[in-house]
Amino acid sequence: MEKKNIDWANLGFGYMETDKRFVANYKDGAWDEGALISDPTVTISECAGVLQYAQTCFEGLKAYTTEDGHIVTFRPDLNAARLKSSCERLEMPVFPEERFIQAVSDTVAANEAYVPPYGSGATLYIRPYMFGSNAVIGVSPADEYQFRVFTTPVGPYFKGGAKPLTIRVSDFDRAAPHGTGHIKAGLNYAMSLYAIVDAHKKGFDENMYLDPATRTKVEETGGANFLFVTKDNKVVTPKSGSILPSITRRSLITVARDYLGLEVEEREVLFEEVKDFAECGLCGTAAVISPVGKIVDHDKEICLPSGMTEMGPITKKLYDTLTGIQMGRIEAPEGWIHVIR
Ligand SMILES: *Cc1c(COP(=O)(O)O)cnc(C)c1O
Repeated sequence: MEKKNIDWANLGFGYMETDKRFVANYKDGAWDEGALISDPTVTISECAGVLQYAQTCFEGLKAYTTEDGHIVTFRPDLNAARLKSSCERLEMPVFPEERFIQAVSDTVAANEAYVPPYGSGATLYIRPYMFGSNAVIGVSPADEYQFRVFTTPVGPYFKGGAKPLTIRVSDFDRAAPHGTGHIKAGLNYAMSLYAIVDAHKKGFDENMYLDPATRTKVEETGGANFLFVTKDNKVVTPKSGSILPSITRRSLITVARDYLGLEVEEREVLFEEVKDFAECGLCGTAAVISPVGKIVDHDKEICLPSGMTEMGPITKKLYDTLTGIQMGRIEAPEGWIHVIR
């Protein structure tokens, strides 16, 4: 397979059209068998449920070339299960989990020429998503849906090393108690745009959202879960019904416990405690872990002891171990690596 002529090391995190995408349609109560197609555009009713009432959800995962030359994805079964729970919460039909994994594999295989080579730092980002496609004007769920998977090569997240981020405590909320914060709904992102644009204008990289009910507990950022390390090397990660269950964060917990022998606590984390932590990172598929160096709460600043130049030592070990597992340099727990070819 001849790879496309792409400058892998200098790719950014942007959309690049690739050759094939998977499309399946839901109509009259059933999914059709779906197909890989070449047309990158979508044609739907001007009154489609997704356009009027935002009935859409998505997933995000990556395909990698491992050290021994296989193309793999990381725990796609968890993405399938999470899409299922998003669909159920949004009154959308579930795309069967085995079919989800197959569609992801087929789309990656069809775009093999775009899977970055091992060692380039780049990966093939995979975006499965679903939306209500027929006309809906009275507020109700759509009757017809489209499930699609496209891929796009993305560059190394940290060019020239991971620079710790400066984040601020947001005055806006991300998710209501008993709302949709725990599912991967497009609407969660639409309402976060104002807060992130405002944060960037003021010189911050990200927003830290607190629990909207009491504003005393740490939730997450717009698109990544928090992971903290205590001064005695315990890994602490916030537990809440309104944060999105990050697959990266859940995997890092296993890595911390089973590979690094660290104690892990999944529990409510008071903002009050944050000043006592030694390290802080943001977990998500895009960057695996982005280190946080500083957290600004209005006129107060918390400077993490790990500093503003590099990842903290435990964060670095977690990052190196998980990326080692993903790239096939370290043996993975059973079922974590899904080989495509
Ligand atoms: C997708 C997402 C994450 C990260 O989840 P991963 O499965 O690790 O990529 C975290 N928070 C939010 C709000 C998300 O949408």
